[in-house]
Amino acid sequence: MKIVRIRPGRERSLLRRHPWVFEGSVAGGKADAGETVRVEDSSGRFLAWAAYSPQSLIRLRAWSFDEGERIDAAFFARRITAALDIRARLPIASDGLRLVHGESDGLPGLVVDRYADTLSAQFLSAGVERWKAPIADALMQATGATRLYERSDTSARQREGLAPATGWLRPGDPGRAETTALTIREHEWRLGLDVANGHKTGFYLDQRDNRKFFAETVRHFGFARVLNCYSYTGGFSVAALAGGATNVMSVDSSGPALERAAANVALNGFDAARHEALDADVNQTLRSLIEARQSFDAIVLDPPKLAPTAAHAERAARAYKDINRLAFVLLRPGGALFTFSCSGGISVDLFHKIVAGAGLDAGIDGLIYARLGAAPDHPMTVTFPEGEYLKGLVVLKR
Ligand code: SAH
Repeated sequence: MKIVRIRPGRERSLLRRHPWVFEGSVAGGKADAGETVRVEDSSGRFLAWAAYSPQSLIRLRAWSFDEGERIDAAFFARRITAALDIRARLPIASDGLRLVHGESDGLPGLVVDRYADTLSAQFLSAGVERWKAPIADALMQATGATRLYERSDTSARQREGLAPATGWLRPGDPGRAETTALTIREHEWRLGLDVANGHKTGFYLDQRDNRKFFAETVRHFGFARVLNCYSYTGGFSVAALAGGATNVMSVDSSGPALERAAANVALNGFDAARHEALDADVNQTLRSLIEARQSFDAIVLDPPKLAPTAAHAERAARAYKDINRLAFVLLRPGGALFTFSCSGGISVDLFHKIVAGAGLDAGIDGLIYARLGAAPDHPMTVTFPEGEYLKGLVVLKR
C-alpha cells in the first residue's frame, strides 16, 4: 500500500472530512493515476484512503475517512446504494434524476443521471476512471437500468490528464443501442433529450423544480409574454406554456438544442404558433429587443458556467451583470426575472450583489420574490460547500 504524507498543518481539511487535497499540501509519496493510497499526517497518523491523481491540482480525493474500510468493488456498490437510498426518500417529480452527484455522494468525480431506463455517466477523476468497470457493474445491478452511456468529455477530465471517453459502457439490447434519444417525464410534462449529443449527460436536471416554480409563477401573475434566454432544449419554455403564457421566445446559440425545444413544445401538445426559437447570442438579442422596444412579462436567464473557478469570477461578474441589466430593461413593470448562475466560482452573496448592481444600472428596483437552488437530487453537504453551485433569484420589477 503506497503512503502519501501531508505537510504539517495542511491536514485540517481532511480532518473536517473535506475530500480534496491540493498539490501544494502533499509532502511526499507518489502513486499511479487513480491508485488508492493511504494518506497520513506528518506524524504518520491515518487521515484517509484516497485516489491519487498525478496530473491534477487536486492531487488526492478521499474515498473514506475510516481506516478499517477497504476500497474495493464492494465499497463502490455500498456508496452507490447509499446514494440511491437517499434519492428514494427525496421528492423527485420525474423519471429523470441525478443518482450520483460526485463528492456530495462520497464518490469524487462520478456523476450519474438516470433518464427513464437509461443511465448517463461522467467519470471525471483519475480515481473513478480506474474503478470504471466495477462502478458500471454496481450501477447496473443497483438501478435495474437497461443501459449505460458514458459522457466523459468535459474539461474537468482534461485537468485530470484524462482523454475524453464517450459511448455505451453497457449497451443493453443491441437493437436499441443506436438510439441515444429518449424521453423523460418531468412533473406533468414530457421532455426529449439525447444522451450522446446533448450537453453534459444530456439534460439539465438541476433546474427541475425551478421550471415547475416558473410555470406556477407565470400562472399566478397571468404572465403572457415570456423570454427564455439560454433555453437549451426548452424546459423553461414548456413550463411557461404550461403556465398559460401566450407567447414564448427561446433563445440559444445551439441549433440542435432549439430544434429539440420546438419538438418538446409539440410533444406537450402546445400550438407551435405560441413558441418562437431564435438561434442567436443572448447578449446581442437582448440589445436588439430593447432597440425594437419590445418588453416581456417574464424573463429567464440561465447562462452556462461563466466562472468555472473563483479565478474567473471578476470577468464573469461583468458578463452576468451586463445580461441582467439588459433583462431588467426589457422587463415590464410588475414582471419577473428568473436569473441564475451555475458557476462554482460565484458565491450566493456575490451573485446577489451582481444582480443588485445590474438593477441599479438599469434604474429599477425590485422585490426578491424567491431564492432558488438546485433540485434535491443534486445535494449539498455540510462538509463539501463546493457542492453549492446553482443559485437563482426571482426578482419582481416594481
Ligand atoms: N435553461 C436550460 C439550460 C441552459 S444551459 C434548461 O432548463 O435546460 C446553457 C445554454 O446556453 C446552452 O444551451 C448553450 O447552448 C447556451 N449558450 C451558451 N452561450 C450562449 C450565448 N452566448 N448565447 C446564447 N446561448 C448560449
